[in-house]
Amino acid sequence: MIPAVFDYVAPKTLDDALRALTDGGEDAKILAGGQSLLPLLKLRLANPKLLVDLKKIPGLAGIRQEGNRLVIGALTTHFEIESSALARHKCPLLSETARAIGDVQVRNRGTIGGSLTHADPAADWPAAILALAAELKLAGPKGERWLDAGDFFLGPMTTSIEAAEILTEVRLPVFSTRSGSAYQKMAQQASGFAIVGVAVSLKVDRNGRCEDMGIGVTGLGEKPFRAEAVEQRLRGNKLTAKLIEEASFPVAEGIEPLEDLHAAADYRVHLARVHAHRAIQEAAKRAAGRVR
Ligand SMILES: Cc1cc2nc3c(=O)[nH]c(=O)nc-3n(C[C@H](O)[C@H](O)[C@H](O)COP(=O)(O)OP(=O)(O)OC[C@H]3O[C@@H](n4cnc5c(N)ncnc54)[C@H](O)[C@@H]3O)c2cc1C
Repeated sequence: MIPAVFDYVAPKTLDDALRALTDGGEDAKILAGGQSLLPLLKLRLANPKLLVDLKKIPGLAGIRQEGNRLVIGALTTHFEIESSALARHKCPLLSETARAIGDVQVRNRGTIGGSLTHADPAADWPAAILALAAELKLAGPKGERWLDAGDFFLGPMTTSIEAAEILTEVRLPVFSTRSGSAYQKMAQQASGFAIVGVAVSLKVDRNGRCEDMGIGVTGLGEKPFRAEAVEQRLRGNKLTAKLIEEASFPVAEGIEPLEDLHAAADYRVHLARVHAHRAIQEAAKRAAGRVR
């Protein structure tokens, strides 16, 4: 349980961090909250020669509103998001998802950027940021670029982030009066990770028809995904109890369900249907409560 020897730097600017990562090449690794990386180092499943700690770089943490977008710094902890009044009022799915992560120690140290880039197939944030159609800002040696959340996750522990790139910001839409959202998950009891988690963000028109929606699913497949088959069945329709129940059924369409000691594949599919149903129902109820 003791990591191999490594060097440690804590640069004070993004440029210095990018330089350290570029110079370190494959032997360098970013350190954020350390909640996923440190266990890997202790088990010697990762043996980087250099850790580049981002915590001393100003401006990488915090939540702010820019027009109709919320901007969350990659170094913002799960607890900061959970307890942010701005997040709760402007994008309540964030607070609800943050609250569902691990335990209070993990939420105090772990960051949204670390969770997204670590890309554990059972992590909670990916479901929410897919449902919200978030955009991710990456800084690299060649400058900045933006990625849609849907293009970020490639597979288990694999994302489109390139060597020496740093995730710096997550940008999300601010909720409007006729929006509703919900996150429902079956948690693995020891860690809190999702056996299956479903995040829903939707908007209804004045007549209660679903104008737009996003459904993000985590834990079911080898990477998180948008349940497009369900979204298509609901979009443009009145969200009746019967339609929600029927539409939730194909949530696993086209997905090879994971199977492990926590849940068999067919049980995971069952959980995905149940939690999609509950999350859509709850989001629709909340949206109806915000119709003006
Ligand atoms: C006991 C326990 C229970 C947990 N339960 C849950 C749970 O219920 N749900 C859940 O979703 N998660 C859970 N987690 C994981 C937790 O959310 C971590 O905080 C998260 O996965 C990693 O975030 P971090 O900031 O700690 O990243 P780190 O551990 O520091 O880094 C993780 C990886 O991301 C890279 N990285 C970090 N930040 C950046 C960045 N800005 N740009 C590019 N690369 C970066 C690192 O190089 C590393 O490869 C749990 C962890 C523990 C230890």
